[in-house]
Amino acid sequence: MSDNCIFCKIVNGEIPSRQVYEDELFRIIMDVSPATKGHVLVLTKKHYRNIFDLADIEASRLLVLAKKIAIAMRESLKCDGINIIQNNESAAGQTVFHFHMHIIPRYENDGQNMLWTPGTSDAEELESLAAAINKGFVAD
Ligand code: 5GP
Ligand code: ZN
Repeated sequence: MSDNCIFCKIVNGEIPSRQVYEDELFRIIMDVSPATKGHVLVLTKKHYRNIFDLADIEASRLLVLAKKIAIAMRESLKCDGINIIQNNESAAGQTVFHFHMHIIPRYENDGQNMLWTPGTSDAEELESLAAAINKGFVAD
């Protein structure tokens, strides 16, 4: 629990939310300002600022949970697709600094646009970027 964290307060029930699901690690709630009908947030029960300090136990369970929610949405909401979005730090659009993942049902012609503008690259740049990321990678 982190002081003045709105998602800690939601996890603890101090602030009401519309819950979809919970287990020992996660609480899934409806987003109060949804991008589309059915937009949910997967919150960790523990306070982590974002992916940079997320523990491996939550990290390893998260995508399995997201897959189940995606299948449930397709069945129940009859959506045409799903976007999974997870923002880390302000530069990437994070506004609430407690780890969460957005699962957003998409409907043909729903008027939303969550895609980026494709850029350009050259082989040399791609090679040096790949090497830089690989160098920073810490294997288990
Ligand atoms: P971020 O921009 O940090 O990735 O996403 C924060 C999300 O939290 C937004 O989609 C916003 O609508 C949602 N949100 C912020 N405050 C509340 C709240 O009090 N209750 C619920 N259910 N969602 C919230
Ligand atoms: Zn928190």
